[in-house]
Amino acid sequence: MAIFSLMQKSNIKHISWVKGKLSHEFIKKNVVWKNIQKHFEHEELHFFYDKKTNGRFTIAVHNTFRGPSIGGLRVWQFKTEEDAIIDVLRLSKAMTYKNAAVGLNHGGGKAIIWLDKNQKKSRPLLRAFARSLIKLEGNFVTGEDVGTSEQDMDIMQEEVKKYTKKVCVVCCSKKTGGSGNPSPFTAYGIYDGMKVCAKRVFGTTDLKGKTIALQGLGNVGWVLAKHLVKTRANLIITDIDKNKVAKVQRLAKGKVSCKAVFADHQIYSEKSDIFSPCALGGILNSKTVPLLKCPIIAGSANNQLWDEKKDGLALHKKDILYAPDFIINAGGVINAAMEYAAKTKGKLYNEIEVYKKIDEISENLNLIFDYSEKENIPTSQAAIKIAEERLKNTEV
Ligand code: NAD
Repeated sequence: MAIFSLMQKSNIKHISWVKGKLSHEFIKKNVVWKNIQKHFEHEELHFFYDKKTNGRFTIAVHNTFRGPSIGGLRVWQFKTEEDAIIDVLRLSKAMTYKNAAVGLNHGGGKAIIWLDKNQKKSRPLLRAFARSLIKLEGNFVTGEDVGTSEQDMDIMQEEVKKYTKKVCVVCCSKKTGGSGNPSPFTAYGIYDGMKVCAKRVFGTTDLKGKTIALQGLGNVGWVLAKHLVKTRANLIITDIDKNKVAKVQRLAKGKVSCKAVFADHQIYSEKSDIFSPCALGGILNSKTVPLLKCPIIAGSANNQLWDEKKDGLALHKKDILYAPDFIINAGGVINAAMEYAAKTKGKLYNEIEVYKKIDEISENLNLIFDYSEKENIPTSQAAIKIAEERLKNTEV
């Protein structure tokens, strides 16, 4: 039986694994628990079950060496419980690397609300999640991710405030003192990072006339499309949501060429100058990498490589310059961390400072590309080495 079914059946509200101590020892025999072990190098893992809303929440804290963990809340209909837990474990680990690489005083964490196929996100569900969040006593701070919005963060913050003064939610709306949706900051970082890649491969940062294949036209993809159309880059676009495709087509009309393709395998086979994955993770794998016809990959999706080592190496061998996801997509968390600092230390949130810090992403990319060239290793490996080095050298 899966973990949440067990919780449901036995009326268990919270199962925690904190620094090696499991609150409910019998879980060790559970098949899902056994299967997730190979991904396990975390400080904390929590399962919360809320009976009233049928809320199934998982929070993973990978590392708090540099400070409280920070990472988004993803609301998604995963096919299986194992998929959901592995995703939260992989994403929280990537957050540790992302935060360390860009010098934030935060560790990595991530949260998931696992919706079943008939369930929708709702106010009561988000409130129940917020009440679970406070059990981590500020050790995990969350903001937006796939499936959540700044309005959702407002609802959660309102609930959190009833119980604690600790800051557990960021990226709330500006009217509530937050910094709003982080996606424009992420998109800005991706756009800037694309220019760094273009300089390496084409000898110019100018994206005018270049063709960008954009997978996913959501919060990040839409803002990125706006930057690209403004700079007169041509687009190949795809999204499973036809309305989003139509919206970008309207934006591009009369300015640049914009070809819409199917969301399945077609996008991978399209010839482009830059492929930009801005949907979900795991899309660079043994099936898709052989199809790619692009010299650069630069996009926002987290955990783009299905297998970090194998798929990173495959891209390296194909001579594709891969901008490691956790380096290039750090704009959003930089903004979130600055909002957190403002809220906790009484500093003023300053958007100009946020953009200044985001400019460091380009420096990081150049450092990684140099290191990868010098050592003849995939850029993904170079990025991990640099992040690990920074983590090791953290002064506590
Ligand atoms: P979003 O949910 O707003 O957008 C994702 C889009 O991808 C949606 O429009 C969805 O319809 C589309 N999509 C899903 N599956 C697809 C498929 N198979 N093919 C094509 N399109 C598909 O999410 P977002 O906030 O724009 O984030 C995009 C990615 O970037 C995510 O992986 C997220 O974790 C990552 N990311 C986002 C931020 C941020 O600030 N929002 C920061 C860092 C990383």
